[in-house]
Amino acid sequence: TFEKMTGNINGKDELAQMERTFNDMMEQLESNYMKQEQFVSNASHELKTPLTVIESYSRLLARRGTDNPEVVEEALTAIISETGRMKEMITQMLDLAKSSEAQSFEFKEVNINQLVEDVIKPLRKVYGREIFIEAEDVSFVETDEKFVKQLLFILLDNARKYSDREIIAAIENREQGTEITVKDYGKGIPQENLPQIFDRFYRVESDRSRKTGGTGLGLSIAKEIAERLGAKLTIESVVGMGTVIRVFIPKKREDSQ
Ligand code: ADP
Repeated sequence: TFEKMTGNINGKDELAQMERTFNDMMEQLESNYMKQEQFVSNASHELKTPLTVIESYSRLLARRGTDNPEVVEEALTAIISETGRMKEMITQMLDLAKSSEAQSFEFKEVNINQLVEDVIKPLRKVYGREIFIEAEDVSFVETDEKFVKQLLFILLDNARKYSDREIIAAIENREQGTEITVKDYGKGIPQENLPQIFDRFYRVESDRSRKTGGTGLGLSIAKEIAERLGAKLTIESVVGMGTVIRVFIPKKREDSQ
């Protein structure tokens, strides 16, 4: 009989299991597709904003630039700064694409203390401020050096952008892995904005209106990288006091894909 052929109860279970797997797959596909749609529409919007500014200043230059040095200076300043912003955004979009490709990751034994030192040393000069490293012992984990560096850089650069005092990077060796903490004493993030902070293009309102720097992509790249590394990213912040971001990197990459 049919039941015998399909292995009775087991067969039914398997069918049900297959159906569940299929449904899960479809759901995943749909949600990936929607994420991509959303991304393309957000990206076009975000790229159009600087482009519109560049266009209108170019028109202003064409109309009133020839005999007016002030107009020329204002227009060129805006054009150069908005071009820079667009360039950064495009670079970050490419980074985002790279960080979701499993094959760009290469896992090997990494000395985290050395890595943190390598990232921070040149930044002290560039940022023109203290960046302290706190570590009690040396930590080794099996991870991708390049991507951990990129992730760390994103966190440090946010600490630079949103604070003006010293920055602290701490390394803590745990049984299951290593935790890197980046701490600043800056403006902080309101509690109600924390859940969105890792979303693509999301920026806290007060930063969105600022003219300089920032694309809202940094932390979404950090999150994507962390997922690939099997690492955990957590954030704590108090307005007016500062922000602490922790990256926990497992000793071995069992859970990462
Ligand atoms: P952005 O390029 O705008 O810095 P991110 O994705 O890195 O983009 O960060 C998203 C938003 O989170 C920022 O625009 C800012 O509003 C807030 N933010 C991130 N890091 C910090 C920090 N260390 N202190 C205060 N606000 C921060």
